[in-house]
Amino acid sequence: MESPIAMNEDQPSLRSPIYLDGHATTPLAPEAAAAMAPWWHDLSANAHSPHGAGQKAAVAVDHARSHVARLIGADPGEVIFTSGATEANALAIIGVARAARAARDDRHRIVVSAIEHKSVLESARRLGRDGFEIVIAPVTPSGVVDLDILASLVNADTLLVSVMAANNEVGVVQPIEHVATIVRANGVLLHIDASQQVGKLPIDLSIADFASLSSHKMYGPVGVGALFISAAASLQPEPLLAGGSQERGLRPGTLPVPLIVGFGEAARLAQAHLESDAVHVRRLADRLIANLSDRQVLFEINGLGEIRLPGSLSLRLTGCDGASIIARLSHAVSIAEGSACTSGQITPSHVLTAMGQSAEIASQTVRILCGRYNAENEILAAAEAIAHVVHDETIAHWTGSPVGSAHEGCTARF
Ligand code: PMP
Repeated sequence: MESPIAMNEDQPSLRSPIYLDGHATTPLAPEAAAAMAPWWHDLSANAHSPHGAGQKAAVAVDHARSHVARLIGADPGEVIFTSGATEANALAIIGVARAARAARDDRHRIVVSAIEHKSVLESARRLGRDGFEIVIAPVTPSGVVDLDILASLVNADTLLVSVMAANNEVGVVQPIEHVATIVRANGVLLHIDASQQVGKLPIDLSIADFASLSSHKMYGPVGVGALFISAAASLQPEPLLAGGSQERGLRPGTLPVPLIVGFGEAARLAQAHLESDAVHVRRLADRLIANLSDRQVLFEINGLGEIRLPGSLSLRLTGCDGASIIARLSHAVSIAEGSACTSGQITPSHVLTAMGQSAEIASQTVRILCGRYNAENEILAAAEAIAHVVHDETIAHWTGSPVGSAHEGCTARF
């Protein structure tokens, strides 16, 4: 089936508000939706039932597993389906720590980078309460894990290192091959949260023991993901759930066949369009930047000079309040902020803070992902709307007139 990628720049935007928040979730690919459709009703069955319908579902799951495995250079037997990357991260980190304890492996140090997703940081923090030593590896001001410091943190007590492939806020791609060299030289296990990079840039995960994937970051359905467990890993994670023997007993529970089928189709599509998608979204991001500059918007790009996810932009809008910009834009353009709203309080992004930015600077940041289904006319309209709101804010800032509630519409950033 051919992808109806929105490449025709003469077409008007089909979606309002214009959606540019693909770091949070990507829209479902129409091909994935079509592949899933029969599995909700006509073909619905438990993939572990012995009857014909069940066997057919099991074949569909195997098929999807092969597509996901192929995308990351793995063997299908190394892919365990989960509910998403949050669960995959927890299974890798908590599951491995529990397996080590059970095997009387007395290594107790776990190293995670400072810019990991909360599902990694909180899993590690939980292990910290169980007696593991959690060490946070810092990043440079441009958002790359500091390899020299990382090397100094990995020692004979280290069980596991977890470093993401690409960051979900600033889009900076991490040097995972170098991380792997450091980690592997010490006989330490390596986990990579690859959920933002898989399907957007080529990635070789054979250098890792474990890697997390999320379907809804690559135009697949939300609610499904996977953990890659290398056949060569010296330790298998302990399952976090008790139940049946699905997914080799590592992830008990009835398989969500429609979601897995959609994930498989999204993986197949991503592989087929890896290059053309990257060219398309890079061009859109360049257009957006050029248009904002033409409109005299003052901004800086976080992670500039580093390899970044195609289409990803973390923009510091100089002198503006990011949350206010997003709230005021929300009817026209969906973008995300660089600060989290937790319990009604604005807290600076831990990623921007780890990059050495002050709370005030971090609060000026907005996050954008130009995606596969965005067309150029949408990007130009988005640039116009952003410029309008930024200029309004700037005038209000200098004249002291109100521009609306700054934090109304504030959402957490995931
Ligand atoms: N890791 C990263 C880097 C992410 O960006 C996200 C989602 N924002 C997750 C993990 C969690 O993924 P999921 O929604 O599939 O649980």
